[in-house]
Amino acid sequence: MFRANNITSSGRRSVRYFSSAHRQQAKVVCALYPDPAVYPPKYARDSVPNVGLDTCPSDPWARPELTPGQLLGSVSGELGLRSWLEARGHTLVVTSDKDGPGCEFERELKDADIAISQPFWPAYITKERMEQSPNLKMCITAGIGSDHVDLEAANDRKIAVTEVTGSNVVSVAEHVVMMILGLVRNYIPSNKIATSGGWDIGECASRAYDLEGMNVGTVAAGRIGLRVMRRLHPFDVKLHYYDHHRLPEAIEKELNVTYHPTVESLVETVDVVTINCPLHPETENLFDEKLIGKMKKGAYIVNTARGKICDKNAIKAALESGQLAGYAGDVWFPQPAPADHPWRNMPHAGMTPHYSGTTLSAQARYVAGVFEILENYFEGKEQRHEYLICQDGKLAGAGKHSYTSGNTTDGSYAAASA
Ligand code: NDP
Repeated sequence: MFRANNITSSGRRSVRYFSSAHRQQAKVVCALYPDPAVYPPKYARDSVPNVGLDTCPSDPWARPELTPGQLLGSVSGELGLRSWLEARGHTLVVTSDKDGPGCEFERELKDADIAISQPFWPAYITKERMEQSPNLKMCITAGIGSDHVDLEAANDRKIAVTEVTGSNVVSVAEHVVMMILGLVRNYIPSNKIATSGGWDIGECASRAYDLEGMNVGTVAAGRIGLRVMRRLHPFDVKLHYYDHHRLPEAIEKELNVTYHPTVESLVETVDVVTINCPLHPETENLFDEKLIGKMKKGAYIVNTARGKICDKNAIKAALESGQLAGYAGDVWFPQPAPADHPWRNMPHAGMTPHYSGTTLSAQARYVAGVFEILENYFEGKEQRHEYLICQDGKLAGAGKHSYTSGNTTDGSYAAASA
């Protein structure tokens, strides 16, 4: 085996390993985000707490290959998969060069059996890419949300799609709470005043409110939406939700949460909306000019679900007009967002690049799920129901519950111009 470090045409570093003795076995191609300037980074803490297994069925502490708390999600981290895969005779190619025709991911996918991609640095697995990859049998999302895979095309070709349901739901729920408080309390502009030598309390206070007493609503009360509500409940807010299915009555009572049968009813009522539904044809561009126009003037939106759920120009216009008092989120379309994406430069915004679900606390959890999915695949075992998005040409498992069939990858080639 030998290792080659390449600088790709797009300037991104990629690492390839060759294991020629085992080419006949499965080829796994994996797109991960680039390494930070120093890899491995100097960790701020020595460990992450072992918080138990209620959010991830596979225990990362039980895997000898993993040290929870380490950066596994970037190219050199390789999701900790290399030695495990190679010991079983498989080949692993890891790259961050994922966009545009002829990129390394696309080239390597052509004879790959399994593709692993991440929502944070999505390798868009389009119909065209699937057509060029006759051996492709499974697309694994190392995280949650497989909208960057054309699910319709995957079903047409009977390519299985799996994701690590539950793995980073607490990470995202905490990010949502942080962003809601950040917007409502005017944190980011006030921090800028402090760090730039100023002391303009009037300026800080003129857009700062308490969250207490506000109406806060989630679009979707799934794993993340429910956790957001549980975390906000002690802030003495009035909670609301809209979802296809109602929560059990006991949970509605415990959280004193009001159900809305339509998204319109929710947005007309609340001061803060948090979006926690998957991106699928039903939710693409859900927050357009019309729906935002139904919101209370001066409402806030926090979107950590997917960028395409909101119309990017309508959001910017609503912030400029004052219809929205703030917008925060860590999801964009495409990703990485081009330098001139309207959300990079809009007032009253608290944007981050997509990292809420890839904290050091979350990484070993979604990686442990990837190990589990691969193990099941190689051993011919059934996948966990909750990991399945597509199987045997149909939406299945979690995918059947939360997605509608169709494709939301359109326009992803725009990412190549980023
Ligand atoms: P779950 O599957 O647990 O919950 C999704 C919920 O969305 C379900 O309750 C589902 O309803 C509901 N839903 C689906 N379509 C609609 C719709 N049209 N209107 C209202 N509700 C709808 O998923 P998670 O909570 O774990 O994750 C949600 C999403 O968050 C992911 O799909 C992903 O896009 C995003 N995410 C982002 C991360 C990040 O790093 N920023 C990390 C993890 C996830 P029902 O089941 O009742 O039909």
